[in-house]
Amino acid sequence: MVNVPEMFGSLVFNDAAMQEYLPKGTYKALKKTIEEGKPLDIEVANVVAHSMKEWALAKGATHYTHWFQPMTGITAEKHDSFITPAPGGKVIMEFSGKELIKGEPDASSFPSGGIRATFEARGYTAWDPTSYAFIKDGSLCIPTAFCSYTGDILDKKTPLLRSMEVINQQALRILRLFGDTTTVKVETTVGPEQEYFLVDKEVYKKRKDLIYCGRTLFGARPPKGQELDDHYFGTIKPRVSAYMKELDETLWKYGIYAKTKHNEVAPAQHELAPVFDSSNVATDHNQLTMATMKNIADKHGLVCLLHEKPFAGVNGSGKHNNWSMSTNTGKNLLDPSKNPRENTQFLIFLAAVIRAVDDHQDLLRLSVASAGNDHRLGGNEAPPAIISMYLGDDLTDVLNSIRDGKAYEKKDAQIMKTNADVLPNFVKDTSDRNRTSPLAFTGNKFEFRSVGSSENIACTNTIINTIVADALCEFADRLEQAEDVKAAAEELVKETLQQHQRIIFNGDNYSEEWVEEARKRGLLNLRSLPEVMPLYTSEKNVRLFGKYGIYTAVELRSRADILLEKYSKIINIEALTALDMAKKDIVPAVAAYIRELAETANLIKSVDPEIATVTEVELMRKLSNLLSCFLKKIDVLDKAVMSAREVEGVVENAMFYKEKVLSAMQELRAVADEMESNMSAKHWPYPSYGTLLFSV
Ligand code: ADP
Ligand code: MG
Repeated sequence: MVNVPEMFGSLVFNDAAMQEYLPKGTYKALKKTIEEGKPLDIEVANVVAHSMKEWALAKGATHYTHWFQPMTGITAEKHDSFITPAPGGKVIMEFSGKELIKGEPDASSFPSGGIRATFEARGYTAWDPTSYAFIKDGSLCIPTAFCSYTGDILDKKTPLLRSMEVINQQALRILRLFGDTTTVKVETTVGPEQEYFLVDKEVYKKRKDLIYCGRTLFGARPPKGQELDDHYFGTIKPRVSAYMKELDETLWKYGIYAKTKHNEVAPAQHELAPVFDSSNVATDHNQLTMATMKNIADKHGLVCLLHEKPFAGVNGSGKHNNWSMSTNTGKNLLDPSKNPRENTQFLIFLAAVIRAVDDHQDLLRLSVASAGNDHRLGGNEAPPAIISMYLGDDLTDVLNSIRDGKAYEKKDAQIMKTNADVLPNFVKDTSDRNRTSPLAFTGNKFEFRSVGSSENIACTNTIINTIVADALCEFADRLEQAEDVKAAAEELVKETLQQHQRIIFNGDNYSEEWVEEARKRGLLNLRSLPEVMPLYTSEKNVRLFGKYGIYTAVELRSRADILLEKYSKIINIEALTALDMAKKDIVPAVAAYIRELAETANLIKSVDPEIATVTEVELMRKLSNLLSCFLKKIDVLDKAVMSAREVEGVVENAMFYKEKVLSAMQELRAVADEMESNMSAKHWPYPSYGTLLFSV
C-alpha cells in the first residue's frame, strides 16, 4: 500500500524538514530570506548547511551538488561528496555554509554566447533559497542560479527570478490603487502540462535518428496513425500504467504535485500535469520531472521522447504553460469573480495581459522557438506561429460592452439536460474550449500552448512576466495620477480594448482564412527560429529588458546568439545523421534487395524460361530508379552541409540551415520513405513507424 501523504516530499528539505532539523532562530531567519528575499548571512548559512547535511545523511545521501540550468536547456550538476579527511586515515562528513551558498563550477564549457572568453573560466552558482533542496540519486541537490565572474547571467533561472520580482512590484502598485493595503507579495503561478512519447528501448536502440536527434528522420507512414482518435484518453496499457505509477511516486517524493495522467492524441503519446506552483518552483519541478521521466522509462525497458516532433504524420508534443498571478494570501488576480463587468481590478489585470501580448508578439513567439518546436507550430495540430489570444464568448461580451460603452447583460447559465433519469443535469460552462488558440483564457488563468515539450519553461515565463509587468507599470503610472481611480481605470480598459482588439481571435486558428485575416490585422507570422530570433535584440526589446534589469544588451545578444547557434548545430547533427543512415544502411539495404530480386528473376528464368518474371523486374526497376534518385539527394544534402559551414553570421547561418539543409533532408526523406514502402520489411534496416508507435 502506498501512503501518499507520507511519501510526498520525503526527499525534500521542505518546511517540515526545516522545522524539524533547524534551531528555531535559524529557521526564522531562513524563512525571512525565503519569504522576503532577504540576503542570508553566513552564520545562518553555516547552521542551515549543517542541518541540511544531517538530514541528507539520514536519507542516505553521500554527495551534494549545485543544481542549475545553463543555456544548454538541460539541468547541470557536479557532485562533491561530503567527505573531509580526518586523523587516522578516516573521514568525517562535512558541509559548510559557504559550500551551500556558493559554488564555483568551471564555466568555460557552458554556452555563453561570447559573454565570457574561455580564459575567464570562472563561473558562480548561488543558492536560490526559494526552491527547496532535494535528494536525487544519493546527492543533495541545491537549486542554484549561475552567473559569470563579471556577474553576467549564464542561466535561465536568474532572469526568471528577476522577472518575478519586477511583476511583483508592478502588481502591488495596482493593488494599492484599488485599496489593497494588506498584500505584501504577488507571485506568478505556473502549471505546465507535459506531453511525451514512450517507445520500446530495444526498438529505439535500432534507430540512429532517435539516438542522436531524438526524432525520426526517416519512416514511411504506418497503415494506422491517429485517425481513429482512439488513443486520446484511451485505456492505459499495463506497461505504460506501471511506468506512470512509478513516475508519480517518484515525483511525489520530490514534492512535485503530479496530478493528472492520460493518453494523448498520437499513438504512444501521453501527458502528465502537475498542480500549479510559483513560476520558479514550477520551472525547477518541470526540469526535474523531465529528467525523472527519462530515468524511470529506462527502468521499464522504455525510452521517453521529449522531442517536439519525434514522428511525422502524427501529433508532436507541447507543454501547455498555464499562467496566472496570485497574492501571498492566495487570491488569484485573474479570477473574474461573479460579476467581471464591475470588477475593475480584474479587468485592469486582464487588460494588461491583452496589451502585453499584442505589443510583444515577437517575444512570445521567440520564447517558444526551437529547431524541434518549429516542426510543430504551424502544422495543423498545434497553435500556429501567429500569436493571438482567446477569451471565450462571455468575457468577450463583457469586454465588448466596455469597449462600446454599453451595459452588459449576463447570459443565464444554461442547464445541460442529459435526458437520462439516472444522470444528473448540470450547469453548462459559459464558453466552450478553443483548442486551437496559442493563448487561451481558461477561467482564471492563461494557457500558453505554443511551448515545446522539451523546452525549459523559464524563458517563456521570464518573458510573460516582463511584458505583463511593463503593461502594469504603464497602467500604474497613469492611474496614480488620476483623481478618480475607478473611472480612470475603466477608461483605461476601454482604451486598451480599442487599441488591441486585433490580438483577440476566438475562431479556428488552424484555418487558412486565419492566416490571411491575421495578415490583414498586421499580426506577425514568423514561422521559424532564424526569422524571429533577430528581433530579440531590437531597440524596443533592449529598452524593455534594460528598464527592468532583466537582461543587459550584452546578455540579450548572447542569448540570441546561443539560440541561433544551437539551431544550426541541431540541424547539422540531424543532417549528418541522415547522411550516415542513408549511406551506411539504406543504400546497401536497397541495393541488396534489388540484387535479390535480380537473382530471383534469373533463377526463375533458369528453371523455366517460360515463366514471366515481370513482377520482380518491375519492382527492381522501380527501386533502382528510386535508388539513383536517392543517391542524387544524398549528394545535394552533402553539398548543403558543406556550404553551411562557410556561411558567416549567426543569423545567416541559421537561415541557410533552414532553407538549404533542412529542405534537402526533407527531400532525401521523401525518397527513402517511398523506397521503404516498396521494400520487404526484412530488408529495411530500421524498425518501421508501425513498430515504433505500437510496440509498447
Ligand atoms: P485543462 O487544461 O485540461 O482544463 P486544468 O484547467 O484543470 O486542466 O489545469 C491545467 C493546469 O493548469 C494544471 O497544471 C493546473 O494546476 C494549472 N492551473 C490551474 N490554476 C492555475 C493558476 N491559477 N495558475 C497557474 N496554473 C494553474
Ligand atoms: Mg490544458
